[in-house]
Amino acid sequence: MEMWNDIRSILFHETTILSRLDEMAREITTEYRGKPVTFVALLNGSFVFLADLLRRIPLPVHVDCIQVSSYAGTRSSGKLDFRSAVFPNFSGRHVLLMDDILDSGLTLGTVRGKIASQPGVRSVKTCVLLNKQVPRKTELEPDFSGFTIGNEFVVGYGLDYNEHYRNLPFIGVLSEEAIQKPASETK
Ligand code: 5GP
Ligand code: MG
Repeated sequence: MEMWNDIRSILFHETTILSRLDEMAREITTEYRGKPVTFVALLNGSFVFLADLLRRIPLPVHVDCIQVSSYAGTRSSGKLDFRSAVFPNFSGRHVLLMDDILDSGLTLGTVRGKIASQPGVRSVKTCVLLNKQVPRKTELEPDFSGFTIGNEFVVGYGLDYNEHYRNLPFIGVLSEEAIQKPASETK
């Protein structure tokens, strides 16, 4: 498959990811049993993670999505764009905020603050598939985390490079050539 040629190395195969999700789902189920919880996923990057994790959790949860973006190419733009027209209200609920990857902390930190400031929200915790080991802009360690990775740009399993590679079933590192490729060649 063409897309696969752009991957320099595979960090986590699909089977590895799914067995880690089994463990995370058990932890999350223990935490939220008997509590009114809403899973809030940050789109677009977390849609694959959300779908696979949710189906491993046997509790009666609510699900909501918020669309945000901060990355342009392989770098954070430093500001967060809210693309969803309405920001949902989570009064009376415990919230588990989910994202594909924690990098500088700008995204999760900002959204967590916004939700925590809503009156009546019972708790806000965070859950990420990947925890990048880099200096954070805000103090934030995820409550639930799948894997720790170094400071490298990864794609696949929902994660994109300029909107490509989200549909790779594994998580890998892009080759330099693929990063340099003009956008016109990857359309
Ligand atoms: P933060 O706001 O923590 O700096 O960045 C989080 C967001 O940036 C994630 O939701 C994700 O969309 C994007 N991001 C950060 N690191 C990577 C990466 O290595 N690969 C991809 N594809 N996106 C990343
Ligand atoms: Mg994202």
